[in-house]
Amino acid sequence: MDVKQALHGTLLPVKLAAFGQTGTLSLVRKLVHRPRRLRRSPALQNLVRETRLSAYDFVLPLFVSERLERRQPIESMPGVFQLSLMEIVDDAQRAQDLDLQAVLLFGIPEKKDEQASRAYAENGVVQKALQAIKAKCPDLVVITDVCLCEYMSHGHCGVTRVDGDHFHVLNDETVELLVKTALSHAAAGADLVAPSDMMDGRIGAIRDALDAGGFDQTGIMSYAAKFASAFYGPFREAAESPPQFGDRRSYQLDYANADEALREVALDIDEGADIIMVKPALPYIDVLWRVHERFEKPTAAYHVSGEYAMLKAAAEKGIVDERAAVIEIMTALRRAGADIIITYWARELAKWLRE
Ligand SMILES: [Zn+2]
Repeated sequence: MDVKQALHGTLLPVKLAAFGQTGTLSLVRKLVHRPRRLRRSPALQNLVRETRLSAYDFVLPLFVSERLERRQPIESMPGVFQLSLMEIVDDAQRAQDLDLQAVLLFGIPEKKDEQASRAYAENGVVQKALQAIKAKCPDLVVITDVCLCEYMSHGHCGVTRVDGDHFHVLNDETVELLVKTALSHAAAGADLVAPSDMMDGRIGAIRDALDAGGFDQTGIMSYAAKFASAFYGPFREAAESPPQFGDRRSYQLDYANADEALREVALDIDEGADIIMVKPALPYIDVLWRVHERFEKPTAAYHVSGEYAMLKAAAEKGIVDERAAVIEIMTALRRAGADIIITYWARELAKWLRE
């Protein structure tokens, strides 16, 4: 009889009795509660497990580039690609075939300028991709990232003004362009628009414009608590959006501040956000927990490119078991309050969870 059988099979009571006779148990006070009883077998563990993962929990980010004919790997993110307009539909279809319910679209335009004009062009890359995906997969939820950084020649998330050595990202001027972008995505068939810029007042402005434009069923997933993080590096390669000067700390949250994050979330909910997001995920798991507990709104966590790349690198070196580590992290995020997890592992997770 092997150890497993001995532990879980009929020998167990016999062994315990024998153990009792040795007198060792007398060192332990008489126990009423023995939490280990419920960990005694995989079946018992399955019965009392509190958090379960399903393919429905995950959203797959997809990058579509107007410049490409064929998919191009993103070096810092093994397994992630920039896709051509032709390929994006197949990838969306494959995601749906795996039972994923939603994809999050990012666009890389042919040309960038100082007004981010390709962000809200009717025939922009995201608008074209949306129409193509919706034509083939009408039931797939398509969420679009609404930001200007991929479309701005300087790579900032808004309209900038430079005064000597200083630059400013102008809030209200930026919101105007974000509203135009969100409207053009709604017109092209987006189920949810997801503003990721962190300008003040953009959720309310977008909600008003959507309603006035006849898109009252288009939802808003707000990047409500988005922190200025060192973990975005690989994404900037993926979306070709590194800022050409300065950084994003004048609009993204200081990673030292959780109360401020809660105030940001409250504002976005007030302005009409349907889903709120915390980004990045694992280093901000306390914020995720507080947001979900306090607001009881559908809450998303974005497990970002740096978090992905870090674990990929460790797995490639054989330091961690990729599958076990990914499932543990995703379970932790769900446990901490994430109803939705945006992750570059969405496809693999859907496959693993089927097995
Ligand atoms: Zn941006």
